[in-house]
Amino acid sequence: MPPDARLRPVLIGSEIYRRSSYGPKHPLAIPRVSTALDLIEAMGWLPPEGWVPAPMASPAELARFHHPDYIAALQRAEATQQADAADRARFHIGAHGNPVYREVFSRPATSAGGCLLAARLTAAGGIVHCPGGGTHHGRPDRASGFCYLNDPVLGLLAWLDQGLDAILYVDIDAHHGDGVQDAFHDDPRVFTLSVHEGGRWPFTGAATDRAGGHARNLPVPPGFNDSEMLWLLHQAILPIARHLRPQAIMLQCGADALEEDPLSRLALSNNAHWGVVRALAARPLQQRALGRGAGPDGRGAAPRRAGRRRLQPLVRRTLLGRDLGGAQRRRDPGPGDAGGRARAAGAELRPGGRARPAGTLVHHAPRCAASGRGAGGGAARGGGGAARPAGAARGGLTRGRNRRGARRLRRMRGRAPPPGEGP
Ligand SMILES: [Zn+2]
Repeated sequence: MPPDARLRPVLIGSEIYRRSSYGPKHPLAIPRVSTALDLIEAMGWLPPEGWVPAPMASPAELARFHHPDYIAALQRAEATQQADAADRARFHIGAHGNPVYREVFSRPATSAGGCLLAARLTAAGGIVHCPGGGTHHGRPDRASGFCYLNDPVLGLLAWLDQGLDAILYVDIDAHHGDGVQDAFHDDPRVFTLSVHEGGRWPFTGAATDRAGGHARNLPVPPGFNDSEMLWLLHQAILPIARHLRPQAIMLQCGADALEEDPLSRLALSNNAHWGVVRALAARPLQQRALGRGAGPDGRGAAPRRAGRRRLQPLVRRTLLGRDLGGAQRRRDPGPGDAGGRARAAGAELRPGGRARPAGTLVHHAPRCAASGRGAGGGAARGGGGAARPAGAARGGLTRGRNRRGARRLRRMRGRAPPPGEGP
């Protein structure tokens, strides 16, 4: 009996992440999804039946977006544990930061299967969280930015196949969600909204790029902080969501926008991600939107990576906010707490719009990424033309929030199981 995503946010996971690695020197070498799932369970944020296992997507299901030759090349690479020169050149397998590793086909196919399952589970509404997905750079016929298969695109296509025709994709990963935007460039049924560091790999997503009217891009400067994200949330993301009145929302919240992540120069704390998750999963919208999630983007350097691992568990907690009730709302400051700098009119999503019932799918990115640790690093310093929004301030508030977040994480570290020792 599949769980009812309308009653409680469903969590989709897989044991395949526990034993899988991109390689010891790869930026995504550290375990992220397995530790996130373990921590979620240790904190008691799972229903008694636990998380729902993600099925591996079949080649036929993947062919909804990906070229059959590319799918076959991924399977071949997994079987032989190598990629020949032709596959490296044509499909970027084993090249451009996309290594051949033990589960180079089965792991991304499982992430894709999780997103396809999420689409099915939200056919009648509800919320699903997939900490193993979010590979938004994947292309139909090649790997890109550590992303082999584009599970967000496959999930969005599954929603379209269910008959939805008004979907909002929100991407707050540090990198532009280029693969998703390009996949729906000419499709008015999917609107993509990306907040990312300007001038950062893949060097797309300028503010003027609107993908034929179906996208908005909000490049932000290095040092982009919590109060600025709060400002964007209430001045741009939520107004767009209100205007579009989507039947479904997918949120990709890669953790590489967190402060001190080596793959970006942004300075968000977990609070910023929780704020976006909470706003988009708000009850009025949740009742008629679909959702899916992906996992932690923990690419931080060693002293910081424990915090990255905790982003997705805390996203799960945020999604359970209705269960935590007022306690969580008191802990998580709203727009008024920005000292007026990020206060915006119309901060709440209002019901209305299309009649089709659905659920809000929240999609977080465990991995997306740039092609290597140094990709775009120099260019990012210039800001890439990104403008700091008027009315948003740097400094004080975010530093205070980050201190509170650090204290909270320190408390959690004392309660969480060591990596690899989860239930
Ligand atoms: Zn990223």
